[in-house]
Amino acid sequence: MKRISLLIIAIASMALLMAGCGLFGADTDSKNQANAGQTAVQQEKPKEKVNLVTPKEGIPVLMYHKVGPDKDNDAVIAEDLFRKQMKFLKDNGYHPLTMEQLYAYVTKGDKVPEKPVVLTFDDGYADTYSIVYPVLKEYGFAGTVFINPGDIGTRLTWDQVREMKKGCMTIANHGFNHVEMGQLSEQEQYENIKKGQDALAKEVGIDNNMWFCFPYGDTNEYSQAAAKKAGIKMAMMMKSGWAHEGDNPYNILRVWVGNAVDLQHFEERLNTMHYSDI
Ligand SMILES: [Zn+2]
Repeated sequence: MKRISLLIIAIASMALLMAGCGLFGADTDSKNQANAGQTAVQQEKPKEKVNLVTPKEGIPVLMYHKVGPDKDNDAVIAEDLFRKQMKFLKDNGYHPLTMEQLYAYVTKGDKVPEKPVVLTFDDGYADTYSIVYPVLKEYGFAGTVFINPGDIGTRLTWDQVREMKKGCMTIANHGFNHVEMGQLSEQEQYENIKKGQDALAKEVGIDNNMWFCFPYGDTNEYSQAAAKKAGIKMAMMMKSGWAHEGDNPYNILRVWVGNAVDLQHFEERLNTMHYSDI
């Protein structure tokens, strides 16, 4: 009898775990990330009524790097400001999208929840796990981390990456090594992407990762072919702008966010693709 109750508890806990991504509104990721178990349990969705739209004006794809105290680096954002920005998104009804939702919008014009935004975090810093992940989890926001598998062990561990994936963050490839791919041949670029794909498959169980982010946003005329050959369907750049229906999915523009982007500039960057330079 005791054994049966334990078994029931075990099954119930597993079901809760597997339903997790659905709760966070990122259930489409389970299909993408080839975790068949996650689709097995249907979870009742939150009651919020969300209108679906095809935003003609485009979608801002926010680009974050490190979250922390370094003041002299443009690419860094203080924890306090980052938290305020996420709270702003929550309080103002923004809906962070998964990569899959963004891809369906860009390539097919699929509808997305109103006030869409995409949250991307490059490089896989230790604070992506210690600060970003808990905040996104708290708000139920989808987010994507682009990691360099060759750097795992220096800032993040594979265990932390696996935990973030389990907690519904999308883990994607930023190249095995963080190199300027625009300096490389098609074969060399392919190898850097493929090696990253293989590491994600082996270590995190993502054997059909389709999302890539070019390190430094650096590309040349071979980059798209190399990415395609490695199974990539969509790639982020560092050039500024919003993503639109019909864009080349291998050239997704993003919105820079760092310390200079205070709440006022943040709001502007969410409201118009013609935001001011700072
Ligand atoms: Zn990077």
